[in-house]
Amino acid sequence: MSEPTTTPGMVIIGGGLAGATAAETLRKEGYAGDITIVADEAELPYQRPPLSKGFLSGKEDEDFLLPYPGTWYTENNVTVLTGTAATALDPANHTVTLADGRTLSYAKLLIATGASPRVIPFKGVDLDGVHYFRSKADSVAMKELLKGGGHNVVMVGSGWIGMEIAATAAELGNKVALLGLEEVPLSTAIGNELGRVFASRHEEAGVKFFLPSSAEEIQGTDGKVTAVLTTTGESLVADIVIVAVGVVPNISLAKDAGLTINNGIQVSGSLQSSDPDIFAAGDVANSLHPTTGAYARSEHWANAIASGKVAAKSMLGKAAELNDIPYFYTDQFDLGMEYSGFGALTKDAELVIRGSLEKREFIAFWVLESRVVAGMNVNVWDVQDAIKDLIASRRSVENSKLADLQIPLESI
Ligand SMILES: Cc1cc2nc3c(=O)[nH]c(=O)nc-3n(C[C@H](O)[C@H](O)[C@H](O)COP(=O)(O)OP(=O)(O)OC[C@H]3O[C@@H](n4cnc5c(N)ncnc54)[C@H](O)[C@@H]3O)c2cc1C
Repeated sequence: MSEPTTTPGMVIIGGGLAGATAAETLRKEGYAGDITIVADEAELPYQRPPLSKGFLSGKEDEDFLLPYPGTWYTENNVTVLTGTAATALDPANHTVTLADGRTLSYAKLLIATGASPRVIPFKGVDLDGVHYFRSKADSVAMKELLKGGGHNVVMVGSGWIGMEIAATAAELGNKVALLGLEEVPLSTAIGNELGRVFASRHEEAGVKFFLPSSAEEIQGTDGKVTAVLTTTGESLVADIVIVAVGVVPNISLAKDAGLTINNGIQVSGSLQSSDPDIFAAGDVANSLHPTTGAYARSEHWANAIASGKVAAKSMLGKAAELNDIPYFYTDQFDLGMEYSGFGALTKDAELVIRGSLEKREFIAFWVLESRVVAGMNVNVWDVQDAIKDLIASRRSVENSKLADLQIPLESI
């Protein structure tokens, strides 16, 4: 791996999917100067979705995590400084200070520092056996723990990641209890009716829900976790506790450098921050969405890719705007789901179901003022293009037609 040069080039802080995609796009767009990715993890850039699913269960191997093979970086002359954190930015002098004391100069800078698990100071959170979950190292360690089965796992958090890890842990033969602040898991994202579809599949596999409740105290003996006392008075036996209660964007560098912060690094539709030579992408960026006219920060895989591409083009001075319809997916047991749309617009929308919730094969549409603002397919495939088209076209729809399996989505 080559050392960074002192010629100002493109510097990317954060070796995640957004950062790697930006590097690839810079080369694809013809940029021939220096590209340096500053990556505090020991790994080349990898993608996180398999960490709670196939990689954790052992079905997918390490290669599956890599958006670009290791050779890509050398072949494309992209320097990745693994195990190296950026510790400070100086926008006036266009420099980044690294943890090892070196300084990099940049012409344009991309901040793609992602997000970190939200830490809640539960009593007992420091006991051995309590885990947070974000990185490949976390997944490797958890895989080792869960693989033999037979553990009592308490999951704190009823969102996507909590539900995915719970599913994988149960599939591996562990007893899983899940706590969360919602009455129905996932209801903040998709509402009670649809959250129940996922909950019922978990219950079939033996996952026990304690909702709504949180951890009053994590208890232990000799420094090791033994139980979780819930806020509703239950005492749940546990030798593994996983806390997955959301993430917070890694803004400290940007904040200390004086960039505008607003639920992440505030950026324009072209992902430019309040400093014209600094851009942000991925989980850390709160960008102005041209369709909704509102700032939105997405914590999803597809956004890391789309925003990495847009940021790279913008860094090159090319016209680019992040106007994708937000998309994400999940896999839990035999439930595969894809979702496209504007979550913020679903709150007052009407829910229309096409297919069967009981059979767990359906498309759910959220319809606001006769327009589809979001759509989610569960165990129904090859419909995302049609769903995105319904959302993007903003055409007026009739709910009865949306629900009618005989009417092709394309003709609604
Ligand atoms: C377990 C798990 C499962 C997921 N499953 C799904 C899914 O099914 N579907 C979906 O759509 N999304 C999923 N996501 C979300 C998705 O992975 C994220 O949206 C995506 O990783 C964001 O990419 P990013 O590049 O912005 O940030 P990250 O992937 O977080 O990468 C940022 C990198 O920057 C590094 N960094 C931070 N600060 C510094 C610094 N000062 N110096 C150097 N490096 C720094 C971080 O350590 C990290 O390596 C999942 C996330 C997790 C954790």
